Amino acid sequence: MATKTDRLTTPDNIVPDETDCEPTYSDKTVSDQLIRFLLPDARARGVIIRATHIFEEANRIHGLNGNIAHLFDQSLLASILLLSISKGGTRQVLQLNSTTSSAPVQMLLTEARQGDVRGFINWADGQTILHHDDGETLSGWLGKPVRFSTVRDLGFGQPYVSSIEHESDFLADHLIHYLHQSVQIRADIVLHGDLAIMIEAMPGCSDDDWFKAVESMAKIPNGVLETASTASILTYFNDLHIKQAGTDAYRYHCDCSPEKMTQAMKSFSPEQLASLADEAGNITASCQYCRSHHIIKLTQIVA
Ligand SMILES: [Zn+2]
Repeated sequence: MATKTDRLTTPDNIVPDETDCEPTYSDKTVSDQLIRFLLPDARARGVIIRATHIFEEANRIHGLNGNIAHLFDQSLLASILLLSISKGGTRQVLQLNSTTSSAPVQMLLTEARQGDVRGFINWADGQTILHHDDGETLSGWLGKPVRFSTVRDLGFGQPYVSSIEHESDFLADHLIHYLHQSVQIRADIVLHGDLAIMIEAMPGCSDDDWFKAVESMAKIPNGVLETASTASILTYFNDLHIKQAGTDAYRYHCDCSPEKMTQAMKSFSPEQLASLADEAGNITASCQYCRSHHIIKLTQIVA
């Protein structure tokens, strides 16, 4: 059952395995909690999550640190935020593409499903993190403009694909721009360290209402954003009679398997498959999302 989204993401997530290392993926990951809330006095709603464990696991799996880890981790958060406002969405992909071949990072892809988030980075040929450990901003890694694409999967029918270009050094700006231009949603977003807060105007939200919500969020000091618990950060919205609406747990998790890899490889040409297989007729594929290695028999793919 090949869909548009499968073609967008799956061929890229299978690469010939070039390493001998053992799988680094662990299934014992701890979840972070996303809190959904309502701001009745501002006709707005929102979500907040501090993704400490997601960040730890993502950085461990991908061997990332410094600014690129930060950018990747915040992209994971961005896909969770997008999923949280996707009505009935079962899967939300966020893809950031460079529009210049000279940028060290060519693509950054993250994907959130209910409870799970995963992603990977496509580096430009010959580029490694070691050569670019001083890149500080989103444009430093991807150049500008950046093409911001989303795939929203409702679990039935064709996924909804949307793409827009924008220039900014801040991922939050790209998100706000996308939501406003492509989805006609008025939103404001804070991405600070491992914390994400998003507020969204609901139907009937006047300019005055929206200003109150944005003003409350802007008053949260950086020090609080950095270390405070999400519950205590939400007290900054007390004047708007904030109400908690529910919680969701998210973890960095990849659900790849030899069976899924085999399915995905059925779209490869016989020549491609032959070039990937060893003398014994096995293809060792590594998952770009979690770096697990799967050994697949050629005969299972062409069967
Ligand atoms: Zn995987």
